[in-house]
Amino acid sequence: MSGLDVVELSVTYPGSPPVKAVDHVSLSIDRGEIVALVGPSGCGKSSLLGAIVGTIAPAAGAVMWDGVDVTSTPVHLRGFGMVFQDGQLFPHRSVARNIAFGLEMAGMDRALRAQRVTELLELVGLSDLGARAVSELSGGERQRVALARSLAPRPRLLALDEPLSSLDAELRGRLATEVRDILRAAGTTAIVVTHDHDEARAMATRLIDMANGRIVASSG
Ligand code: ADP
Ligand code: MG
Repeated sequence: MSGLDVVELSVTYPGSPPVKAVDHVSLSIDRGEIVALVGPSGCGKSSLLGAIVGTIAPAAGAVMWDGVDVTSTPVHLRGFGMVFQDGQLFPHRSVARNIAFGLEMAGMDRALRAQRVTELLELVGLSDLGARAVSELSGGERQRVALARSLAPRPRLLALDEPLSSLDAELRGRLATEVRDILRAAGTTAIVVTHDHDEARAMATRLIDMANGRIVASSG
C-alpha cells in the first residue's frame, strides 16, 4: 500500500436531479509514478482531483496514502499540492516570493527558505528570474513558477489540473516534456489532468481514461 489509493470515490453536486460528477472511482498510484487522467470536458476530472487533494468533500469513498485513510484530513495537512490551469500566482509577489509562499506558511527559517527557492528556480530553469515581478513573465514561465511553488514544500503527491491548457500549442508540446522532466527530477508522485492524449503521453507513464464520472480504460 505505497502511494495513493482511491477507493470507490464519489462526488455529487446538489441540484434536481443532483449531478454525479464522480461515480465510484477506484485507482492506485505508486510512489514516484506520473499518471495522466484524460477525458472530455465535464467528465469529472477536476472533481476527482479536488476530492483527492481535499478541496471537495466526497459523497462516498476513501482517499488513502500509504495505507492511511486521509479522507477527513484537512487539505493543508494532507501533504498534497495542486497546480491550476492559470497558475494562480500572487500578482504582488516576485517570482522568488511566490515560490517561497508554502515555505513561509510552514514556518521555514529564512536561510533554509532562500536555499530551497534557489534549488527550485534552478529545477525549473528560471535561476535568473527570482527578483522578477510575475506580471512580467510569459505564460510558460508563469506555469513553471506555479510548478516550482507547488513543489517547494516537497508534497508527497502533486495534482496538476490542465497545467498547460492556457498556453499556445507549440509551447504546450515543449512544456509537457519539461514538466515531466521536472517532476521526475523532483521524484514527485503526480496525477496530471488533461483532455489531450498526446500531452498525456508526453507527461505521464500511465494514462487513465475517464468518461461520465467513471474510469473507462487504463493503460501504460
Ligand atoms: P472536468 O474537469 O472533467 O471538465 P468537472 O469535474 O469540472 O469536469 O465537472 C464534472 C461535472 O460536474 C460536470 O457536469 C459539471 O457541470 C459538474 N460540476 C462541476 N462543478 C460543479 C459545481 N460546483 N456545482 C455543480 N455542478 C458542478
Ligand atoms: Mg476540469
